[in-house]
Amino acid sequence: MPAEPPIEVPRSLAEAFAILAAAPHRPVAGGTDVLVQIAGELGPPPERVIDLWRLDELRGIGLEGDTLALGALTTYTEIRRSAVCLEHLPALVDAAATIGAAQIQNRGTLGGNIANASPAGDSLPVLLAMDAEIVVGGVRGEQTIPARDFWVAYRRTALQPDELVLRVRIPLVARREIRFRKVGTRRAQAISKVVMALAWRSSPGDGGWSDVRVALGSVAATPIRATATEAVLDGAAPTAETAERAAATLAAEIQPIDDVRSTADYRRVVAARVLHRLVRDAGGW
Ligand SMILES: Cc1cc2nc3c(=O)[nH]c(=O)nc-3n(C[C@H](O)[C@H](O)[C@H](O)COP(=O)(O)OP(=O)(O)OC[C@H]3O[C@@H](n4cnc5c(N)ncnc54)[C@H](O)[C@@H]3O)c2cc1C
Repeated sequence: MPAEPPIEVPRSLAEAFAILAAAPHRPVAGGTDVLVQIAGELGPPPERVIDLWRLDELRGIGLEGDTLALGALTTYTEIRRSAVCLEHLPALVDAAATIGAAQIQNRGTLGGNIANASPAGDSLPVLLAMDAEIVVGGVRGEQTIPARDFWVAYRRTALQPDELVLRVRIPLVARREIRFRKVGTRRAQAISKVVMALAWRSSPGDGGWSDVRVALGSVAATPIRATATEAVLDGAAPTAETAERAAATLAAEIQPIDDVRSTADYRRVVAARVLHRLVRDAGGW
């Protein structure tokens, strides 16, 4: 096992920003991804590390008007126990409950899942489907990046090397519903083969859908939105015919790959079936 890299332990966000501005450091939050990298199993280990765990400025879950705000250091256990999340975004609680097992949920953070940028990151489809904003910052100040623009290529983000993910802002839109579904090999400790979040707004009159979001992980190099499939669902009611058309469109729209966890064909078929099931459940038929 390689030697442990030198670690900076800032006591404030300002101190962390200054350390990052002076020299490149790999941030470590819960460490559940970084520790695997430090072990040298996934390419060269980081040369210098900055430990974020003591930065209370990056903690907390709360409502800011019609927005749910979660600090980057929010753990999955905190999300699962949060009355605010349970009331306003149960799909994020559902996603948190599928991540790793208890040990990972106690240490793993939402900011770590976002910055790690794995296409299989289970919280990421929920953030995409909710039009979340990622607030990042460094010595040059803060900026807000829409989730849709954040994951730019395989394991690459819009984050600059001297910036941190600070928090996530999720707009809570009236009459918006969202459902989450993950398919893995087991019920716990399973990396997704397909992970999906489906969001929509129902018309109070005819029950037709608008603002549909179909967000997926593990079917492309980054988490994605399936916009052709969204167009099929937008303006439609959740009938059997709509579900069939949407599922067929999704199967044609995504271009998954074969890898150690699954095959492209399996992912395509399963993604279509998951969407069909979610539309069926929403339609109550
Ligand atoms: C056994 C096991 C099971 C797992 N199961 C799942 C699973 O089911 N689903 C899933 O999605 N993931 C899973 N993971 C991966 C991991 O637990 C998650 O991605 C977790 O959210 C990472 O959070 P962390 O705080 O531990 O990140 P860390 O390991 O601390 O960091 C991850 C990456 O993000 C960067 N980073 C962290 N915080 C910040 C920040 N605030 N600003 C800028 N960069 C930052 C780090 O530099 C690093 O590159 C699993 C990991 C293990 C070891």
